[in-house]
Amino acid sequence: MTPQDVLEKYYGYNQFRPGQEKIIQQVLAGKNTLAIMPTGGGKSLCYQIPALLLEGLTLVVSPLISLMKDQVDALQASGIYAGFINSSQDWSTTRSVLSDAANGRLKLLYIAPERLEQPGFMEQLQQLQISLIAIDEAHCISQWGHDFRKSYLALSDILPQIPSQPPVIALTATATKQVAADIMRRLFIPPANEVKTGFARPNLSFQVVKGQNKNEFILDYVTANQKTPGIVYAATRKKVEQIGQMLQKAGIKAGIYHAGLPEEIRQRNQEDFLFDRLSVIVATNAFGMGIDKSNVHYIIHAQAPGSLEAYYQEAGRAGRDGSPAEAILLYSAQDMQIQRLFAENSDADQKHKDVIYTNIQSVVNYVNTQKCLQQFIVEYFGQDMEPCGQCTNCLDDRQTTDVTLLTQKILSCVMRMHQRYGKKLVAQVLAGSKAKRISELQLNHLSTYGIIKEIKTPAIEELIDYLTASGYLTMPDPQYPTLHLTELGAEVLRGHRKVSRKVTVVAKRSTMPEN
Ligand code: ADP
Ligand code: ZN
Repeated sequence: MTPQDVLEKYYGYNQFRPGQEKIIQQVLAGKNTLAIMPTGGGKSLCYQIPALLLEGLTLVVSPLISLMKDQVDALQASGIYAGFINSSQDWSTTRSVLSDAANGRLKLLYIAPERLEQPGFMEQLQQLQISLIAIDEAHCISQWGHDFRKSYLALSDILPQIPSQPPVIALTATATKQVAADIMRRLFIPPANEVKTGFARPNLSFQVVKGQNKNEFILDYVTANQKTPGIVYAATRKKVEQIGQMLQKAGIKAGIYHAGLPEEIRQRNQEDFLFDRLSVIVATNAFGMGIDKSNVHYIIHAQAPGSLEAYYQEAGRAGRDGSPAEAILLYSAQDMQIQRLFAENSDADQKHKDVIYTNIQSVVNYVNTQKCLQQFIVEYFGQDMEPCGQCTNCLDDRQTTDVTLLTQKILSCVMRMHQRYGKKLVAQVLAGSKAKRISELQLNHLSTYGIIKEIKTPAIEELIDYLTASGYLTMPDPQYPTLHLTELGAEVLRGHRKVSRKVTVVAKRSTMPEN
């Protein structure tokens, strides 16, 4: 049988999606491979089809314990022998699955990464005839990723010890260049064997909504879109319940989902949503991993998530069937403070905290950019793309104003302050603030003190956010967000580059200095 035959016979599809065939051929040729594909791109087939074509067993490492059973049931239903072992099982079940695997009765065996660290696991592996190792959610192996899991690191030691030396396929939807390099190094994948398919999702329109009453927005939007299924994500269980109640009170068929609910309620709400008995589900990020509902029409984030990777993955659950869908981020700066506080109080080491802070900043840059939103994300993942033409930024028809002079003032103030302070203090100095801290630090003696008197401090801060999102300023130390000039910023300061920005034109515009 060829991969194409398997696609038709077991899955009932007649065509490969972009990247799938190349990945499958590469794996069948015994090459260690990194597959990077967007959510919904069809990663599972990339290891399942080789698993069926190769003699012996494919071992699948997956952190999605709650989904293993569903995945395995689905495979069984299509006539593929698969099993899983994880901590939710009793010992005798685990033993019987392992013995099925050893006897060659299974084609695929799913395991949780924690098992890799268990003493004796290597001996168990020796009993199996492994022909392929698939590592799902492979970004979990990287400290630079948004979902680092220590147990994944064990793979670097285990892989070289497997007697049959099977090829490895690592799969992920979210890898920046740095994360991809890390995955390849730790899993012995040569850089030439990376296969990356397009990240752009042409049917999704992205929206960033700032400064609006979030509850009102959600209520209005969901009410107007009751006929099409959608997901509202919130950062905390409390928020999930509050939004859920608000929608239910308004007569909307809304369900909720978070890890604090009893298993049977979660299960029921999930199924009600999958089978369109609910029009919306309000959930924490515990919901959605691996959920394959193709007709989700919108994803609203009531609070911003902690990284752009997480955002794109969650937003990407809309419009899998290819029809137009919307991804809306309701943003307030407090959301990010909450995320930073989570990080500060977590027991992560400093290096890992720095990664978390950097990821948070990427979301802040996303909401402050005036570039095409989808282009911003796709470029963040290291790919190019033309503006989408349908996001809030592409459709922003406000007037573009030259803000070069204003920018030069800000940048020179950052330099005068020796790149040692954050945006609030810089904005206060520029606005000529009488705040005590300014005089204590003697910043009121700087030549840039009060040179943007005509704009209020918060508006200057917004402009600084914009300049950061646009790459003129940067915060190299994730822990202490002190502003520094980039090379691009230096060019502006030298007068070699102009800066423009879309602004809402207000009546007193003539007092703006750049006119
Ligand atoms: P991912 O893991 O990349 O998010 P999945 O492997 O879960 O995506 O696939 C998403 C959906 O696309 C599944 O319903 C899958 O059956 C379907 N799919 C995968 N490959 C194809 C294909 N070649 N043709 C049609 N549908 C496909
Ligand atoms: Zn756009």
